[in-house]
Amino acid sequence: MRDLQDAREQLLAVSLELCQRGLNRGTSGNVSLRLNDRAGNAGFLITPSGIASQKLLPADMVWMGFDGQTSGHCTPSSEWRFHFDILKQRTEVNAVIHTHSMYATALSTLRQDVPAFHYMVAVAGGDSIRCAPYALFGSQQLSDNALLALKNRQACLLANHGMIALGHGVEKALDIAIEVETLCEQYLHALQVGSPYLLTSQEMQEVQEKFKGYGNWGENNQKNME
Ligand code: 13P
Ligand code: ZN
Repeated sequence: MRDLQDAREQLLAVSLELCQRGLNRGTSGNVSLRLNDRAGNAGFLITPSGIASQKLLPADMVWMGFDGQTSGHCTPSSEWRFHFDILKQRTEVNAVIHTHSMYATALSTLRQDVPAFHYMVAVAGGDSIRCAPYALFGSQQLSDNALLALKNRQACLLANHGMIALGHGVEKALDIAIEVETLCEQYLHALQVGSPYLLTSQEMQEVQEKFKGYGNWGENNQKNME
């Protein structure tokens, strides 16, 4: 079983990296990692609410159980509901990253899915990156909307808010968050000068096939194709 101290440090490192890469600023965004407690209760570790990454300490991370128990001296992220629901329902996912990164957030205000304008959209697990309908931050409605938008996907946008990226581990979730942000930047540029040509579902299927032998993109996308 993953060591608690190790997991606390991993969450801090990824929170700082998200800031260093410009994907989050100030107190925006949050991260969670699946982890059982010492007694073996199933749950996850999550970043605390309202603390900027630069001020975070490993000991500030909060453990939450799937039975609703919490332990730690800080308040868990206000978005604990979608972290809880994703980790409970998506048993293949062990890490959840939420960002307010510039381009994903800008695009999310259009309340549109990102279509297959580039073959790398396939890293999110399908032919599009869906945009979940708007709901108040921290609400159960936001979690319900996010879960639907993430069906068979590794990432989604949250309308007028930001994005969520999932991974088997924290590194994979970070890779996906970085790629989604890059795609949103490219798509926004293209939208400024015209209507991008889109790849067909046959072409996207071919990309998924090719990803099977390409880097780390193949391992969990196959089962996500609808
Ligand atoms: P927390 O500081 O509570 O994690 O909130 C940040 C955020 O992104 C809310 O959507
Ligand atoms: Zn947010």
